[in-house]
Amino acid sequence: MKKLFGDQYLIFGIILGVILGGLVGSLFPEVGVDLGFLGTLFLNALKMIVLPLVIVSITLSIMKVGNLGSLGLKTLFYYLITTGIAVFIGILVVNVIHPGDGGMALTGQMPDIVSSKENMSLVEVLLLKFVSPNLFNSAEEFEILPLIIASILFGAAFASLGRESKVIVEFFTILDKAIMKIVHWIMLFTPIGIFSLIAERIGVSGGGSAVLELAMELGKYVLSVVVGLGIHAFIVLPIILMLFAKRNPLHYVRHLGKALLTAFSTASSSATLPLTMEGVIDEAKVTPKVGRFVLPLGATINMDGTALYEAVAVIFIAQSYGIDLSMAQMVIVFFTATLAAIGAAGIPEAGLVTMVLVLQAVGLPLEGVGMILAIDWLLDRFRTTVNVWGDSVGAAVIDRLENGDAETKD
Ligand code: ASP
Repeated sequence: MKKLFGDQYLIFGIILGVILGGLVGSLFPEVGVDLGFLGTLFLNALKMIVLPLVIVSITLSIMKVGNLGSLGLKTLFYYLITTGIAVFIGILVVNVIHPGDGGMALTGQMPDIVSSKENMSLVEVLLLKFVSPNLFNSAEEFEILPLIIASILFGAAFASLGRESKVIVEFFTILDKAIMKIVHWIMLFTPIGIFSLIAERIGVSGGGSAVLELAMELGKYVLSVVVGLGIHAFIVLPIILMLFAKRNPLHYVRHLGKALLTAFSTASSSATLPLTMEGVIDEAKVTPKVGRFVLPLGATINMDGTALYEAVAVIFIAQSYGIDLSMAQMVIVFFTATLAAIGAAGIPEAGLVTMVLVLQAVGLPLEGVGMILAIDWLLDRFRTTVNVWGDSVGAAVIDRLENGDAETKD
């Protein structure tokens, strides 16, 4: 693809797409909505390739990784620590800014997606998502976790067959290359896709001034989420990248521009996964067998941005209702927000649904979600971008922990 369309042009195209999308959506909302089909087409193409990508990547990586236990443990450890740090930042920021002062909560109404989950338990949110009785159903519902688990099992089973599975390894290796080719082709449409997704979303909300008004209404809350995400993305993750992966954050992020802007436009870590993998493995040269395992899993369960956001949102709701959360309740928020983020799928506004867990754990009214519903689509984009950035940093860190310093890093 590079020969056909240099990467530097593509990233300029995408930035142009974001700017033009913002302008068209803001100034001509109807045109933005009318052009929405282009974004849908782009999103559908990404989603089409994600499922084969996840299955092939994970199976191949498990077949090639010598010690799954070591890789798996390091990965989970990284996810838990960074998610925990993110929630902690969220709790700090919301307690400093206090966006809920003034008690505007009483207008809240329980949205349908939330009320249908009212009796959701921890077991349902986390445990039952791991294994699916019907993988085709899971694929249809875009539920990726059961597919990952099944792929890990198949990968381990093939690996245990030793030489007998040689042909499978070859088959999956070729399949992987073919899938990445398709990803490159789809990527050529990223500028148009992103333009359309942004123009349509702003258009649906009634144009730029309507979005601005909405953001101002909940200004301090929006500020708390954005400041918290900013601290995590611009300070914490780069420090982790420098200390543990020995990489220069400015160099590393350059490889991820396409993925991060796609995350912002689609609000879906899973749909962004093909671009994340391309950036991390093909461009930033993270060892493929590590990236192929860490990234699909990360897109599904490692969500720093979502975790931080859940903590901020829940404490904001408490503040708005005039409820003072005790220290013990803050600790409960810390743990449940971490779990709720792990349980959230990599799709738009999934975090809003698993937030029910956190609200219930500290006895807050679920109606509180009604207050933040209108602005959630916008904050979703910021947190999804941080989710994808967290996954990408994780891939570099785990690569170095597993393989030491490789030759091709910056
Ligand atoms: N949209 C987020 C993601 O895909 C999940 C969420 O927080 O709603 O990463």
